[in-house]
Amino acid sequence: MIYLDNAATTAVDPRVTEVMLPYFSEFYANPSGSYGFAYKSMEAIDKARGSIANLIGADSDEIFFTSGGTESDNLAVKGAIQALIPEKKHVICSKIEHKAIINSCREMQVFGVKTTYLYPDEIGIIQPEKVMMSINRDTAIVSIMMANNEIGTIEPVEKIGAVCSKWNVLFHTDAVQAFGQIPIDVKRMSIDLMSISSHKIHGPKGIGALYVKKGTKVYHQICGGGQESGLRAGTENVPGIVGFGEAARIAGNEMNANYRHVSVLRDRMIYRVLHEIRGVRLNGAYYYGNNGYESRRLPGNVNFSFLGIKEGSIPMMLDEEGICTSSGSACSTLNEGASHVLKSIGLSDELASSSLRITIGKNNTVGDIDETVQALKKVITKLRNVTVEV
Ligand SMILES: *Cc1c(COP(=O)(O)O)cnc(C)c1O
Repeated sequence: MIYLDNAATTAVDPRVTEVMLPYFSEFYANPSGSYGFAYKSMEAIDKARGSIANLIGADSDEIFFTSGGTESDNLAVKGAIQALIPEKKHVICSKIEHKAIINSCREMQVFGVKTTYLYPDEIGIIQPEKVMMSINRDTAIVSIMMANNEIGTIEPVEKIGAVCSKWNVLFHTDAVQAFGQIPIDVKRMSIDLMSISSHKIHGPKGIGALYVKKGTKVYHQICGGGQESGLRAGTENVPGIVGFGEAARIAGNEMNANYRHVSVLRDRMIYRVLHEIRGVRLNGAYYYGNNGYESRRLPGNVNFSFLGIKEGSIPMMLDEEGICTSSGSACSTLNEGASHVLKSIGLSDELASSSLRITIGKNNTVGDIDETVQALKKVITKLRNVTVEV
């Protein structure tokens, strides 16, 4: 099997599994316990918090653990709005946000909150000027993702953050895809709230965090025993937190090497497909070659649309060849309809539904890429020869 769906989830790094294991059956104490044994758990949580904070230029006490990116997105948007209503009743997000953001904004309608959805340009960039023009006296929060999960476009968050800070509006960014892949500095980027997740960076599933800049008011979404300073109650997922911390530490240490390895594979895939298959469109930020961190595309992201395919799914055909890919985000394949992201960058329904997302990770090899190109040629030829009866 060749796994090329690393934006959906990643394999847990064996080094991560190893540090987690003792926290299942050996150091299993509830960290709130009032004995030395509990201190072992608390100490491990503190260490993980430090590793995560370190990777984004934050302080440890600005990191709050949640069950993942989805919960962090909900907590950030709903919690920040609930802390500011009734004075402020407007939120701004983009058309290409993850459904966790779009649906959280929608749910705030019950409080009379209005949402402005900003369209990206044709490569998926949200222009900071558009953000500025949409801010009004009522605006509580702007939520623009750091990098898109479908087309890999890296947003100009530093400029958007500066706009928000100037107009005194909170800035949240969903950095689930960017975290651990590209450098993040919450202070330089003027970020107030930021969502991150462990399982996209070779950590375990079901654990994530929200960065909350000191002094930012967020209303909790889950109440109970007051864990995580009251922002997110519930007994801490100690093995998950330990694994997340280790995954973040490793991602930080190996970021440059991974970036180089993965972006070389991405560029090889893009070059070969554009040269060897006709009628292909590359969706997202244009290919600039290997220009390191200046690129506006995530190192592992490839997203194509194929002309002349009326029926059949490319990922399903590739699966027959033993290759795991996706047509959009893992989440949007659950519901019907073409990707909202591809449509908002201007693709027709037909082009949006003949799309293929390939997301490369650190465990992939040149052989994986070359085998996939061969299989793709075969699959596209087959699909283009299907005649549709009217
Ligand atoms: C995966 C993902 C999420 C959801 O994170 P989970 O930890 O799976 O809940 C949110 N936003 C983006 C951009 C993602 O890629």
